[in-house]
Amino acid sequence: MQTTIKTPVSFEGVGLHSGKPARATILPAAAGNGIAFRRSDMVLDHAMIPALWSNVRQSPLCTLLENRYGATVSTVEHIMAALIGCGIHNAIVEIDGPEIPILDGSSAAFVRGILSRGVQHLGTPVRALRVLETVEVRRGQAWARLTPHDSLMIEFDIEFEDAAIGNQKKILNMSNGSFVRELSTSRTFCRKADVDMMRSNGLALGGTLENAVVVDGARVLSPGGLRHDDEAVRHKMLDAVGDLGLAGMPILGHYHGFRAGHALTNDLLCELFSRPRSFETLLCDETTAARLPGVGVHWGEIPAVA
Ligand SMILES: [Zn+2]
Repeated sequence: MQTTIKTPVSFEGVGLHSGKPARATILPAAAGNGIAFRRSDMVLDHAMIPALWSNVRQSPLCTLLENRYGATVSTVEHIMAALIGCGIHNAIVEIDGPEIPILDGSSAAFVRGILSRGVQHLGTPVRALRVLETVEVRRGQAWARLTPHDSLMIEFDIEFEDAAIGNQKKILNMSNGSFVRELSTSRTFCRKADVDMMRSNGLALGGTLENAVVVDGARVLSPGGLRHDDEAVRHKMLDAVGDLGLAGMPILGHYHGFRAGHALTNDLLCELFSRPRSFETLLCDETTAARLPGVGVHWGEIPAVA
């Protein structure tokens, strides 16, 4: 059955890019609504921004959505990943400006907030998207691919010059709450050289050593070090879960990203939806529904983080 959050939950922090205070509230929504963002600082007719792949606008560092009236919301991927990973199909995320707060750079606080309110089951079956044939997109050396599978598998490879990250590879099945246990606490990461460049260009003004893992060669500059040895690849998998959530329904398929990022994952969804024979949508029976992300997740499974 489709789900929503039982009662509203709010998050306060700063926007990664603006550095300005930002407040987001996840509100319950009816079956069939899907996930949408709503700008509380805009007139109601123009304020709704559905969380869909077709609303993604190119942005270098995050996933940015824009509706047909020009209303935007940026850095949606970590709250999207938390909603998908907790098995929430319908919600309105109300936001008081153009950016979702970055919090600690992971999905941990969003997951904790959602699970503290609980998941409400609605009386309508879930519609899922099943991948039927391989779809692949490339940009330079990077590529992303979807192949058929009976649940959502996420696989990722990264290759970084900085020895603190290096080459990392991981594959996980997103059934049975593994998003919450394995991925939700892994933070955004970046290289010190990139931080310096962004700052000098007036970008990432809200970025700190507390909301991103900053590395310089073999050194991790953020206090407390890493939450996992392979935190970087886990975060890329978290981003992929959030970006794939913009399909508008749970995906049954195996995603593999090689040095991929937000733009490439969105290219992949565009390619998928441009090829109607590469997928089908289906109402989930009990067996399929039991394999969706978030099924069986409970409060006690949230990993403790510093
Ligand atoms: Zn991210």
